Amino acid sequence: MANILDGKKIAAEVREEVKREVQELKERGVTPGLAVILVGDDPASQVYVRNKHRACEEVGIYSEVHRLAASTTQEELLKLIDQLNRDPRIHGILVQLPLPDHIDEKKVIDSIALDKDVDGFSPSNVGNLVIGDKCFYPCTPHGCMVLLDRAGIDPKGKKAVVVGRSNIVGKPMAMMLLARHATVTICHSRTSDLAAECRQADILVAAVGKPELITGDMVKEGAVVIDVGINRLPDGRLVGDVHFESVSKKASWITPVPGGVGPMTIAMLLKNTVEAARRAC
Ligand code: NAD
Repeated sequence: MANILDGKKIAAEVREEVKREVQELKERGVTPGLAVILVGDDPASQVYVRNKHRACEEVGIYSEVHRLAASTTQEELLKLIDQLNRDPRIHGILVQLPLPDHIDEKKVIDSIALDKDVDGFSPSNVGNLVIGDKCFYPCTPHGCMVLLDRAGIDPKGKKAVVVGRSNIVGKPMAMMLLARHATVTICHSRTSDLAAECRQADILVAAVGKPELITGDMVKEGAVVIDVGINRLPDGRLVGDVHFESVSKKASWITPVPGGVGPMTIAMLLKNTVEAARRAC
C-alpha cells in the first residue's frame, strides 16, 4: 500500500515558513505585496481570488484585489497592469484566468513585468524556465516538485512521465523534472498507447482533467504518483485523474485528491511573492 504524500500538511509547513520569511522582510522594512486582478464574475474565479487574498493575509503579505467589470476593455486592463508594474508596494501581479473573450489573454500576461510575474505564465518567464535561467516556477508544478522533495524523492536518473501538455501544468512540470535530471516523457490526448508509456514511469504525474483515467494496471510497481487533476463527478464527489484505490495498491507514494497537489498551489504563490519581494530589496 502506497505512502500518502500529504499536500495539506506540507502546504501548511510551507505557509509557516513563508510567514517567518515575511516577518524577516518586514523587519528589514519590506512588506511583500501581491495584486490580484479579477475581470468579470465567474463564480469559481471569485472563490480562487478570495482564497488567495485570505492566504496572503494569514502570512502577513499585503494583498489588494482589483475586481473589474466583465465589460472592462483590454486597454483599461493593460493600464492597470502598467500602474501595478510601477507600484513599489506591489512585488507580484496575478491576473486570474480565464479572461472574457474580448481580451487577449496572451497580451495581458505578457504585459506583467517579468520580476512581478509570480504566476510564471509569461513567455519570457517560460523561456527562462526552459533554458534554466532565474525565473518564477509556475505554482502548481512547483508544488508538485516540493511534494517530491519533502518526501525525499530525487528525480535524478528516474523515468518521469507527465500526462498532459498544458502551458500551466504539463509543460512546465516536464521542464522542472528535466532540470532535476529525470528522463522525461510527455503524454497527451494523441498519445497512441498511454498505458504502455505510463507503465515505464518511476514518477508519474497526471494533469489531464479526466476522472480516474490512470488505473492500477497502467502503473509500475513502486512508482511515485502525483495526481494534479481535480474533477467533480455528477454525484458531487471530487476525484483526481488517478483511480486512487487501484493505483495506491501499486505505487510507493501517491497524492490524494483532495488534499494533495491542490493545497500546494496557493502555498507556492505565497512563496513566489516573497521571493519577488526579496529580489526587489
Ligand atoms: P488542460 O485541459 O489545459 O490540459 C489537459 C491536457 O490533458 C491536455 O494537454 C491534453 O492533451 C491532455 N489529455 C486530454 N485527454 C487525454 C487523454 N485521454 N490521455 C492523455 N492526455 C490527455 O488542463 P490543465 O489546466 O493542465 O489541468 C489539468 C487538470 O489539473 C484539471 O483537472 C485541472 O482542474 C487540474 N488542475 C489542478 C490544479 C491544482 O491546483 N491542483 C491546478 C491547475 C489544474
